[in-house]
Amino acid sequence: MPLAPVTIPLQVLDTAPQRPVFAQGPRSLSSVRLLRISVTDRCNLRCVYCMPEEGMHFADRSDLLSPDDIESVARVAVDVGVESLKITGGEPTVRPDIVEIAMRLKALGPSDLSMTTNGLQLRRLAAPLRDAGVERLTLSLDSLQPDRYAAITGGGRLDLFWEGVEAAERAGFDRLKINMVVMRGRNDDEVEAMASLSLERRWTVRFIEYMPLGDSRFTVPGVDPNDAIVENAQVARRLADRFGELEPVARPTEAGVGPASVFRLPGARGRVGFISAMSRPFCETCNRLRLTATGELRSCLFDGGEVSVLSALRPVADDNALRTAFAECVRLKPEVHSARGNRAMSQLGG
Ligand code: SAM
Ligand code: SF4
Repeated sequence: MPLAPVTIPLQVLDTAPQRPVFAQGPRSLSSVRLLRISVTDRCNLRCVYCMPEEGMHFADRSDLLSPDDIESVARVAVDVGVESLKITGGEPTVRPDIVEIAMRLKALGPSDLSMTTNGLQLRRLAAPLRDAGVERLTLSLDSLQPDRYAAITGGGRLDLFWEGVEAAERAGFDRLKINMVVMRGRNDDEVEAMASLSLERRWTVRFIEYMPLGDSRFTVPGVDPNDAIVENAQVARRLADRFGELEPVARPTEAGVGPASVFRLPGARGRVGFISAMSRPFCETCNRLRLTATGELRSCLFDGGEVSVLSALRPVADDNALRTAFAECVRLKPEVHSARGNRAMSQLGG
């Protein structure tokens, strides 16, 4: 059954300064722990919340950062204290040199190298990525029903997803994270079924509130993108009604925990997580930057503050100029993000 609409308006636009020490927090370079690296804005799927029905504009392949460029930016990131590197996109596995990129990033010695993927190419790539040094995978799965999965993803095959999962587990990725974007009326009747994946498996199933970013099927004229949002408080309540009180999990035990609050269903081997960017923005603890596939360092998913690193990369990489770009970028972090973002997650390294 779809969840009933919320009557409380979302509190996302409180832009009053929250903490006078913000400059020592997210806007300080020493706070940055994670760089999300988008290696392409292209994708083999067209998820309803991520891309428009038609007219999606992709960057020219010649404008994408090369493995050398990506390595140079990541090297400086590790130098300034970034511990975790996350390869993402678009869909990172559509890039033919993805294994080489992973190897190069691993050689920089981050404490954590992970990838977010829709999983459809893992049958072929899970083992090579593991061998290249990727330690953890996050997979997107918005429905357990084949027809609905195809409808949400623009033609994705659920059987290929599960084959990818098997290949990932064979390759040694045992603690998968599964991301579900919960959308009112589209898949919110599946939150219990998704959560129950964590009962027998040591996976973390994470419920993500839809974020109105860029052009998608929810940001067209005549559609209020907020209608698609299901607040995570509702999801958590519904899980507690079905499975019993959720047990909080200590954050340090969840690798690369980031913005998720993590719990366990009673008796479960795995975990459930909630990423509540719309109903409970976590800007004041933000510790990440993003590198777009075309060479912009981006301070926030929502607000447009970004710094191009192209002039610091070409004709040869200049580490000092890259360091300056990092420092400039963190200063652009908003105190509270806006309600809408100008570029899609696929363009930003979501
Ligand atoms: N293609 C890969 C995938 O789907 O896992 C990696 C990139 S995708 C942009 C990263 C994550 O962002 C996915 O879990 C996806 O579901 C999520 N995502 C994309 N657009 C979103 C949006 N507008 N709101 C919330 N989550 C979104
Ligand atoms: Fe592709 Fe990931 Fe966006 Fe879906 S969410 S369209 S899989 S980039």
